Amino acid sequence: MTSTRELTGRNAAFAADGFVEGLRINPSGNVMVVGCVDPRVDPAHVLGLRHGEAAVIRNVGGRITPATLRTMTMLGKVGQAHPDGRAAGDWNLVLLHHTDCGMRDLAPFPDLLAEYFEIPAAELDAKQVSDPVGSVRVDVDVVLGTLTGSAFLVSGLVYDVSTGLVETVVAPTPLRDMQLRQVSRR
Ligand SMILES: [Zn+2]
Repeated sequence: MTSTRELTGRNAAFAADGFVEGLRINPSGNVMVVGCVDPRVDPAHVLGLRHGEAAVIRNVGGRITPATLRTMTMLGKVGQAHPDGRAAGDWNLVLLHHTDCGMRDLAPFPDLLAEYFEIPAAELDAKQVSDPVGSVRVDVDVVLGTLTGSAFLVSGLVYDVSTGLVETVVAPTPLRDMQLRQVSRR
């Protein structure tokens, strides 16, 4: 176990050497990443994100679920509350799935997955939980069908945990307009 004492010690080193003063609540790079909680795929590591550059949402599989969309809606409101700190230009929304994802281990638990995606268990095949290339395509489509906005580009990447490399499965695709459709629970 890495102890809290160890972690706070590392924090002291960060505060002394890595901390950047004056960062804003809005991501300096206009980047939002949705990725998996897997410890091997931290976007800060594998995409080289700088301090304050990106907002990162992590969940099981890095999936676009109704909960993810609600979180994005909330973050949009936070951003609107801080108009002075917003960087100019388009937003880059990156969906980051990966090989050897634990989502595969959840395939025997369709009820859990159905609750997660808020769909009937009979429709789970469409979510491609055992194939990161398929799943990132599915989730880009969910975003494109839900968020609309010319100020967004959406891309789908798959990170290979055996090589450290990402593959661009869905190239950056623009949205049409900034309206976020109401996302409600079934
Ligand atoms: Zn994963």
